[in-house]
Amino acid sequence: MNLNQKQRDFYQTKKTRGVDFRLLQLKHLKTVLQRNEKELYDALKKDLNKSEEESFLTEISIVYSEIDHHIKCLKKWSRPQKVKTNLLNIPARSEVIYEPYGVALIFGAWNYPVNLTLMPLIGAMSAGNTVVLKPSELAINVSNALAKMINENFEEGHVHVVEGGAETATELLKEKWDYVFYTGGERVGKIIAKACAEHLTPCTLELGGKSPCILMDDVDLKLSVKRILWGKFLNAGQTCIAPDYLLVPEKFKSKVLEELKHQIQTSYIPEVKIINDGHLKRLKGLVENPYYQHIVEGEQRLGPVVIDVTDAASMKVMQEEIFGPLIPVVGFHDLDQAISFIETKPRPLALYLFTGSEHVKERVMQVSFGGGVINDVIMHISNPYLPFGGVGTSGMGAYHGKWSFESFSHRKSVMTKPLWFDPFIKYPPYTDLKMRLLKLLVK
Ligand code: NAD
Repeated sequence: MNLNQKQRDFYQTKKTRGVDFRLLQLKHLKTVLQRNEKELYDALKKDLNKSEEESFLTEISIVYSEIDHHIKCLKKWSRPQKVKTNLLNIPARSEVIYEPYGVALIFGAWNYPVNLTLMPLIGAMSAGNTVVLKPSELAINVSNALAKMINENFEEGHVHVVEGGAETATELLKEKWDYVFYTGGERVGKIIAKACAEHLTPCTLELGGKSPCILMDDVDLKLSVKRILWGKFLNAGQTCIAPDYLLVPEKFKSKVLEELKHQIQTSYIPEVKIINDGHLKRLKGLVENPYYQHIVEGEQRLGPVVIDVTDAASMKVMQEEIFGPLIPVVGFHDLDQAISFIETKPRPLALYLFTGSEHVKERVMQVSFGGGVINDVIMHISNPYLPFGGVGTSGMGAYHGKWSFESFSHRKSVMTKPLWFDPFIKYPPYTDLKMRLLKLLVK
C-alpha cells in the first residue's frame, strides 16, 4: 500500500473541505498541545538543554499564536475572492477559489523542533490538506513526543507523524504528494526539490545560509550590540535567521570588537547545547583568530567566540553558515564594498542593518534577501502579517499567518458566464467588422 494511502482516502471524503471541520481541528490541536506542553518542555530540555522560558518564547507560544491567528482569520481567508472582469468577458462573474492541494508531506527541522514542525502543519490543516509529518531525527525526544501527541489524538488519515531519518525521508519522497514543505539545509533541499520534480509536486523550501548584519557607526553601539548578541545567543546560534557575521566600517571595528567582548563578559550566556558532537567539532574547527573566547561549563556547549576577520576570502568561518555562537566581525571601507561583499555570495535568508541614515537604508534595501530588520535582528519572524521565507539558495516560497494558508492552497480561477448573451464576434469567420470590434474590446 502507498505510504500516504490513508491520507489520500481521508482527503477524498472531502471532510477537510469544510471550514468548520478545519476550525474544529485547529482548536483540537491547541488543546492537545496544552495537554502535552510538559512533555514537550522535557523533550526540548533533553535534546537541546532549552530552558522552559526559552522553549515557551521561541517555540510553544509562537505555535499558540499561530493557531489563534488562523482560527480568527480562516473564515475570511477561505472565502472565494471576487475579482474584476475585463471588458472582453462582460457580463461574467470572476472569482478566486482557495482549494487545498490535497495530501501534504512536511519535514521539520531540529533546531526549533516544535515550532518548525507544527507551524507548517497549522498552515496545511488550515488550508484543508491531509498531512504526513516527519520531524527531524536529530531532536529525537521531541520527535517521539510529537509522534505520540499527534498520533494518539488525530485520525491517521487526517494528520499522521512518521518518525525516522534519511532512509525514511527517501522512502516518503518516492510517493506522489500534492505538496511538500521542507525546512533544513541546502544539500537536502536539493534532494527534496529533485524528488518533487519527479512528480511535478509543488514545494516550499525553507533553507539557510549566511545572514549578514551591517552595523554602521552612526548608531547607539551599546544597544545595537545588545540586540545582536540576543539574536546570536538565542538557541546558541542555532537559528536559521541568526545574524551570521557582522559587517562594520573598518575604522569602527576595534570599538565593536571591544563592545562585543565587554557585553559577553557581563551578560547572561544561555545554556542551550550544540545539537551533537559532529556540529560541536565542526564549530570548533571554524575558530580562527579569536578576539575573545568565552569559556562555559557543561556538556556539549561552546562559549561565544568573537572572531576578528582579517581575510574574509580564506578564513573558514566566512565560507559556510555558522549555526553556532561564533561572531565574526568583517571590516569594510565604504558601503559599496559592503554591499558587493554580500552580493557576491548566495542570497541570504536574512539581512540586518543598524543605521539612522535613510540614504544607507535605501541602498541596502536594494540587496536581495529573504527578509530582515532595520535596527534589530530576528524579530521579523514574529510578525504573522509578514511572509517568512528565503530567496535563491536560502529557499523558495513563504509561510506564517495568511501566507501559510496561501502556500498550502491552490488558487483556482473560476468565471461564471450567463447563457443569455453570446456575442457573435467571437466566432469565425472573422470579418473586418468583427476584427475592428474585437480590437476595441481587447485593447
Ligand atoms: P537537514 O537538512 O540535514 O535535515 C532536515 C531534514 O531532512 C530531516 O528531517 C532529515 O531526516 C531529512 N534528511 C536528511 N538527509 C536526507 C536525505 N538524504 N534525503 C531526504 N531527507 C533527508 O538539516 P540541517 O542541515 O541540520 O539543518 C540546518 C539548516 O537548516 C541550516 O542551513 C539552517 O539555516 C536551515 N534552517 C532553515 C530554517 C528556515 O526556516 N528557513 C529553519 C531552520 C533551519
